[in-house]
Amino acid sequence: MTESESQYPFSDLTHYTLSKEIIRQLDEDFCRENQLVLLGDMSPTGHDPVPLGMLDPSDDRSASCVERKVSRQIRRIQLNAFELDNALAFGFGDGIDVSGSTMILDIGRGRHYLNSANTIEFTRDQPVAKMVIDTFSEAVKRHASDIHIEVYADDVDVRFRIDGVLHQVATPFSKANIKKVCSHIKILAELDITEKRRAQEGRICSVYEDESGNVRQIDMRLSVVPGLHGSDMVLRLLDENRINISLDKLGLNNTAFTQFNEIITSPGGLIIVAGPTASGKTTTLYSAIRQLNNDNNKILTVEDPIEYEIPKVNQKQVNSYMSFADYSRAFMRQNPDILMIGEVRDEETANIAMRAAQMGHLVFTTLHSRDVRSSLDRLHVLCNDRSLIASSLMGILSQRLVRRICVDCQESVDPDPVILQKLSLRSSGISTVHGKGCSTCHGIGYKGQIGVFELLVFDDYLRREVWQGHALDLKEITNFRPMFDDAIQKVRDGITTLDEVLRTIPLPDNS
Ligand SMILES: [Zn+2]
Repeated sequence: MTESESQYPFSDLTHYTLSKEIIRQLDEDFCRENQLVLLGDMSPTGHDPVPLGMLDPSDDRSASCVERKVSRQIRRIQLNAFELDNALAFGFGDGIDVSGSTMILDIGRGRHYLNSANTIEFTRDQPVAKMVIDTFSEAVKRHASDIHIEVYADDVDVRFRIDGVLHQVATPFSKANIKKVCSHIKILAELDITEKRRAQEGRICSVYEDESGNVRQIDMRLSVVPGLHGSDMVLRLLDENRINISLDKLGLNNTAFTQFNEIITSPGGLIIVAGPTASGKTTTLYSAIRQLNNDNNKILTVEDPIEYEIPKVNQKQVNSYMSFADYSRAFMRQNPDILMIGEVRDEETANIAMRAAQMGHLVFTTLHSRDVRSSLDRLHVLCNDRSLIASSLMGILSQRLVRRICVDCQESVDPDPVILQKLSLRSSGISTVHGKGCSTCHGIGYKGQIGVFELLVFDDYLRREVWQGHALDLKEITNFRPMFDDAIQKVRDGITTLDEVLRTIPLPDNS
C-alpha cells in the first residue's frame, strides 16, 4: 500500500454536490495539469477545510498552491481518473457528448403536437431538442433508471440514478434555458405547457439505437412538480432490457432457486415477494410470470401502474374506478389460472388474494415489508383468519438489490475493519474484492445489480404452526438462509462488497 492510499480517504463523487461556480474558482488548465478539482462549500464564512479531489493527494506542491489561490484550508480527497474527469467535465464542459447513440422521441406516438396557438415540430437540429435528446440518450447509455432535473435559485442540476445510487452528471441545462427545456419535455409527454401550478404526470415514448445499431423501445414516465425556482422533473426510464431477466439470473442461490421454481409451478397458493421500494420485486414477479406464460395458462395482472407490457398477459391498471380489490374480485369471474395482484395494501385485497389462492389459483403479490418475518406479521394485521393464511400461503420471498462489482476493474482488497465491526463480522476467512473504476463502469466500480434473497417455503408443519398461532423460529428451519447470510456469501463470491451489504441489507436481529 502506498503512502497516499493510507493517508488520504478514497472517495467518489456521489458524496459531493458539485457546483460549476465553485469548480471554476480554479482555472481549467491548472486543474487539468495538476489533476485536481474543488468539491465543496466555498462560502467565505465557512471554516471547515474545503474538500479537494485529487488524482494524487500526496502532491503537496499542488495542494498548497490551491490553498493560496482560494485562501482557505483544504482537505485532500483521492479520486480515480474517471471521477476526476467527470467532475472537470461537469465544471468546465458545456454539455455531454453522446456520439454513436441516438434516441428517437416519439411525440404523441408519431403525431405532431398541437397547442392552441400553433403547430410545434421538433427536429434534432434545434438546440433545446438536441440537449434533451442528448441527456436522455446519455442516461440510457449509462443504464440509468431515473433522470432527476432539479432547478435551484442559481443553478440546474441533473442527476442519474444508476444501480440505485444518484450520480451528478455534466449538463447543458442552465437557468437560461431550463424553461424551454421544461416546456419541450412536457410537450413530448403531451402535457399542458401552460400549467405551472399543479403537479403533472405523463409518458414519453422513445426508441433507442445503441452504438451497434440495435434498436429497442424505452418509454419514460415523467413527473413534474412545480417549485420555487421552476419545475423539478423526474423521468423513470422503462428499459425492457433491465426487466427482461430470466429467473436463473436474479441471484437466487441454488437451494432457493429450486424451491422457488417448485412453488411457482404448483397448481395453487399465495406467493409473496417482499421488500421496500426499488428492491427488485417487480423484476422478480415479471421473471416468474414470463416463465409461466404459455398457451396453457390464463394470466391476469393488476398493477399500479403497468410498467412493462408482457405479450399475451392480460394486464390491468388501477384507476379511480377500479382498485386492486375491485380488479381482484372481477378476476375471479374470468376463470384465470394465475393472478398477479401488484400490491396488497388493504384487508379486502388481502382476503380476496388468499381466498383465490385457497381455491386453487396461483396468486402472486408484493408486500412493503422488511423481511420474511415482518411480512408474516403484516399478513396477520391484514387478515385475522389464521386458518385462511395457513391454508393459502405457499411462500414468502424477501429481497434487496446490491450493486455488482465491475468485472473489468475488480481487484482484491483487505476488508475494512470498521465495516466488519458494523456488520458484526470477524475478518477471518473473508476475502473481498472491489472495483477501482474504469471506462466500462464510468469510474463507479460497480456495474449492474443482483438480488439478495431469503425464501421461506411453507410445508405442512409450518402451516400448522401458523394456524395454531405459534411464532416461527426461522433459525430452526432447514433450507432457510437469512438475507444477511445470502449477502455475505455474495461478498465471499466476489460479486458485491461489504459496503453494499451495509448500505442495503437489514442487519440480523441478534446483532
Ligand atoms: Zn470498472
